[in-house]
Amino acid sequence: MEPFKPQDILPLWKTIWKLQAAPRCRLLMWNIIFDKIPTGTNLLKRSFHGPFRCHICCADEESTDHLFAYCSVVNTLWHNLSAHIPELKAWHGANIMEAWGNWNRDHTGKLINLPLLVCWAIWTARNNIIFNNIPPSWPSILCHIVADFNLLPAPVSTTPTRTITPLTIDKSKPWAFFDGSAQADGCGGGAVLFLNDAHFYRIQIKYPNGTNNFTELSTAKHLIHFANKNIAVIFNYLEIPILYAIG
Ligand SMILES: [Zn+2]
Repeated sequence: MEPFKPQDILPLWKTIWKLQAAPRCRLLMWNIIFDKIPTGTNLLKRSFHGPFRCHICCADEESTDHLFAYCSVVNTLWHNLSAHIPELKAWHGANIMEAWGNWNRDHTGKLINLPLLVCWAIWTARNNIIFNNIPPSWPSILCHIVADFNLLPAPVSTTPTRTITPLTIDKSKPWAFFDGSAQADGCGGGAVLFLNDAHFYRIQIKYPNGTNNFTELSTAKHLIHFANKNIAVIFNYLEIPILYAIG
């Protein structure tokens, strides 16, 4: 495989980790792209002298590129998948990086996840052959991939540009700002409660899940509760302008 340029790593990381496929599938894809999985040729590099033929097609040497990009049995799996997922365009490339690049160029939305599910299925089928002596049932593997694909949540739409509510505030008196957001990998909110320009409290809350509205309102509730408990005592009143982000 081609050595990786450091400047390519961050965009690639973002492309893979924002996906909806299970974390194990994302981690596997990451390791496949960086050729970090123990395929036959990789084991050979570490002086392991076992069989290094592809266990799936039994015809070629088992390298990462062979196993995930162009093994003939895997190609048939991809071909059969297209009967179930009509929007699918070809998975093709001389190596895994090329295939992943082509895939990202040709597909959008939930479909970007599909190679991760397929690679996970190939890797588990291959390991079942080697370690459990279980021959793969490709029709059942195909059904599992299609089912997993259909169960994937729709990708989170890109957050629209947020605007701060225009409001003139007297910053010599207490004021606050809050915002909350729901993302695929976690929800949370934050608020800053200013006593004046030099003194402020920062509040941060994480939620296990929830919608944008839920995180916004819960963050506002926390902020008001906090202000009530702390500021009302200091200033003996609670009249604080609160700014929020729309969106
Ligand atoms: Zn093969």
